[in-house]
Amino acid sequence: MSFFSGKVVIVTGSSNGIGRGTAVIFAKEGAKLTITGRNAQSLEETKQLCLKAGAKQSDILELIGEITDASFNERLISATVEKFGRLDVLVNNAGGASMTNFGKGIFDIPVDEFDQMMELNVKQVLRLSQLSVPHLEKTNGAIVNVSSIAAFHQQSKMPYYSAAKSALDQITVQMAASLIKKGIRVNSVNPGPVATNVVVAAGGTKDDQDKMFAGMGSSMPLGRVGLPDDIGKIILFLADRSQSEILIGHIVTADGGVTLKSAMFPDA
Ligand code: NDP
Repeated sequence: MSFFSGKVVIVTGSSNGIGRGTAVIFAKEGAKLTITGRNAQSLEETKQLCLKAGAKQSDILELIGEITDASFNERLISATVEKFGRLDVLVNNAGGASMTNFGKGIFDIPVDEFDQMMELNVKQVLRLSQLSVPHLEKTNGAIVNVSSIAAFHQQSKMPYYSAAKSALDQITVQMAASLIKKGIRVNSVNPGPVATNVVVAAGGTKDDQDKMFAGMGSSMPLGRVGLPDDIGKIILFLADRSQSEILIGHIVTADGGVTLKSAMFPDA
């Protein structure tokens, strides 16, 4: 029997991209799921994929809302526990960059955008994690955060996104050190480029998005960009105490080798 059979998992940002891929992987493993996003139609598509993967109708709770809204954070946790009676895993996947000032440098982007990036990539993660602790403590549960390799790099086209993901990594290790005392494990996966709807969702065009992913694959050591499934499998592993109990506060770089590239010899 799968480790996740009958266990309860929340995946934020599961109406698209990495979150959707992750929800489907947990559904295949027999988990009960809360899926969430803002777009009702995309969320319904995720639900249908989960049903196809083996979930029952009654195993899925769909909640539509704005993830930076504190009252929605409370609803996500309380409605999940009310419906399923427990919580085993929180996947803090929702997040992203802003395309409004994409490509501008750190001194040309209004500081307000920094606040937005912190709200979207950090503060809601903290709130959801705090709210989930009493429930995860009862189940020896896990939190998996989705950060980015942008956290490690000078990312000149999206400086505040990078800064927010760096902050998220520090939050991951702080939470991990604190929560292991309650039996809860916290880890992070930091993807490199993954072919999702990320640019369009952040206000860019499909053309921008295709251009961004086109050619990236061939310059990556693996020879291709990541897929939502690649990241979902790592999230599953990090959430699975039977496989990864020894990992606490670990930042898993999942980038097809991009961060191995040398600035001096990029083609080596
Ligand atoms: P997508 O744009 O494909 O999906 C983002 C998901 O998050 C959607 O379900 C979206 O919901 C939800 N979401 C975004 N903002 C909000 C919000 N304000 N309120 C509620 N839901 C929201 O993105 P990815 O799958 O690519 O990204 C997922 C995570 O992975 C993010 O944290 C991102 O930073 C990270 N990442 C992505 C990389 C990539 O190359 N794709 C690389 C490194 C990290 P809806 O569409 O319904 O609004």
